[in-house]
Amino acid sequence: MRKKGMCLVYVGMLAAVVALTPAVSWAADWVSDGKAAAVLVVPGETNAVPGQAAELLARYIAEITGVRLPIVAENDAPASGPRVFLGATKAACAAGIDLSALKYDSFIWKTDGRDFFIAGNDYLFASAKGNNASACRGTARGVYRLLEEYGGVRWLLPTPKGVVVPKSARFSVPDTLNRQENAVFAYTAGGVSGFGEWSLANGQRMAVDVLIQGHSWDGALRNWGDPKKLFEKDPTIFALIEGKRHYSDSNFYLCTAHPDFVEMNVKYFSKLFDSGYQWVEYNQSDGYRRCECDKCDAMDQLDELATTKARYAKLANAPNPHDKSLPPAERLWVPFNEIALRLYKKYPDRKIIPLSYGPTFIPSRQVKQFPPNVMISLAREFPEYFEAYAEYGKTIWTYWWGDYHAAGLTPNMMAHDIAARVRELANRGVLGIYACGGGVQWGLEGPAYYVYAKLSWNPGLDVDALVEEYCRGIYHDAAPEMIKFFNLIEERTAVGKATQTVIEQAENDYRVATANYFPEAYPFSVLNMLDMYLATAKKKTAGDDFATQWLALTDIQYRYLKIVATAFNLYREYRYVRNKTPELCDELLAAIDARQAFLNELSEMKARKEWLKDWFPRADAYMTTAATGGVMYGTLNNRVPFSEAFRKELEKVRAAKK
Ligand SMILES: [Zn+2]
Repeated sequence: MRKKGMCLVYVGMLAAVVALTPAVSWAADWVSDGKAAAVLVVPGETNAVPGQAAELLARYIAEITGVRLPIVAENDAPASGPRVFLGATKAACAAGIDLSALKYDSFIWKTDGRDFFIAGNDYLFASAKGNNASACRGTARGVYRLLEEYGGVRWLLPTPKGVVVPKSARFSVPDTLNRQENAVFAYTAGGVSGFGEWSLANGQRMAVDVLIQGHSWDGALRNWGDPKKLFEKDPTIFALIEGKRHYSDSNFYLCTAHPDFVEMNVKYFSKLFDSGYQWVEYNQSDGYRRCECDKCDAMDQLDELATTKARYAKLANAPNPHDKSLPPAERLWVPFNEIALRLYKKYPDRKIIPLSYGPTFIPSRQVKQFPPNVMISLAREFPEYFEAYAEYGKTIWTYWWGDYHAAGLTPNMMAHDIAARVRELANRGVLGIYACGGGVQWGLEGPAYYVYAKLSWNPGLDVDALVEEYCRGIYHDAAPEMIKFFNLIEERTAVGKATQTVIEQAENDYRVATANYFPEAYPFSVLNMLDMYLATAKKKTAGDDFATQWLALTDIQYRYLKIVATAFNLYREYRYVRNKTPELCDELLAAIDARQAFLNELSEMKARKEWLKDWFPRADAYMTTAATGGVMYGTLNNRVPFSEAFRKELEKVRAAKK
């Protein structure tokens, strides 16, 4: 053991981390002078999950030092250390580690003489039926954090080249390794949770056996019987719409007054709970259409409702659940309450989570209190929603990324914005986040994905430090320019979104008009600045292949942004500023052609499979989306100035003026 001096002090804003040690310690070598100095000990062969954590630790230490530490079962462990016990070993229990006191995948690091412990709750989820991809992995969380802090390993992007592993002849930890890190969220899923080790290592993970399914009526109906046959036998199961019972092949609209409706759902959710799920989401079908039968209308106790469809439709975008002019959809809440009550009797320890979404944005006035097995999943981040459901446990669906925004396949939400939102959700006690969209634009949104993943473990982390770590890690000497580049993009997306007021955004579901967004977010002067940062970055990384490749990814995705923004900028000039000169028509046509040339270039890139695997995460999704431009509340292809009709107009105007 050698005197090591200061060990890293972990800074956490929230109480995610409890430091149990003084800052000065001795270093304990696990590998020194190219030799193994410690052995990894796992509880035994029965539980696969801590074995995975040991394998993970051994694999990365071997990558750092070239030395693989042996892994032994506890019964075969040597009598003395240094021993690194992983998971729920007898030795951990004897050392006073109480895993039952840890929530979700929280973990403990502890030192006892020459023994070290890394332990958290490890178990496969019952619903996964032995599929070990689906598990609570507290010990692995402890291993990842240790590799980060004492091995300097960083999982920056989800490709083999995105993992930075510093080499060293030595791997050591302080001999006073004592810490407990507490998970803030039970799960953070969606957008960037599907990237295997990248996701898990940075903190995107599920630590509760939850079924995030959004709309559940289809599942319930199909579990009840063959929908088509059910309709033939008794069409009144389905909603009465414009005088007829409505059948569709999916996304079913049901009559919630039907005598079987509650039973159908109780049966379905019982099946899900029996298969092991602890938490399950409940929601009516998307684009909900109300049943116009007398019994359903009577449930709402609002006579005028039957004749004022517009008011009912308005519920879908209601900005404020306290708006007394809007009727609650009691036809949905009252039967749901019955479903929840019946499930509560059968499964008191499980949770059913209705989405407050569309017609259920407005809380029930009739049901004063749902049973204790009910949590709420919000689909809006507005404070009113948190207040309206103050007494319930909460999860949330977020819409931070995804090509369905006005920005399409250009950045929608960047690092600081994401961090502020994650912190707010943590402060409000949200237990789980499902991010709808994200993970496609690594070249431009990469720092935001990284920050989101890291903060979903510890919301107190410093955003600027993380962005810098990310940029230094992949762009090397060009980090200062790239930080400015990403910060400018963040600033500009905010300006683009501010083309609508907050109230308009709320009422309009953030449907900023694309033709307004791009010229505001990325006028030519801003594109020039971004060009300049990238040009300087390229100069600085000349001769550095690693940084050059990552810069190439950013460059590709930025060029797409620039092409789209340029076309919208010129289109604004065409509409309002310059005369419709042949020259302007030529410029616009060139901008439209540039997009097609870019798409051709992407298409040719598909042949570079090896390069894509290393340097272009989600290349497939990016390329598919680029072809349409993203949804953008109407695909880019059908939108002026990129539409075929507009091209014809330009050609006509040009010909007429010449
Ligand atoms: Zn009905």
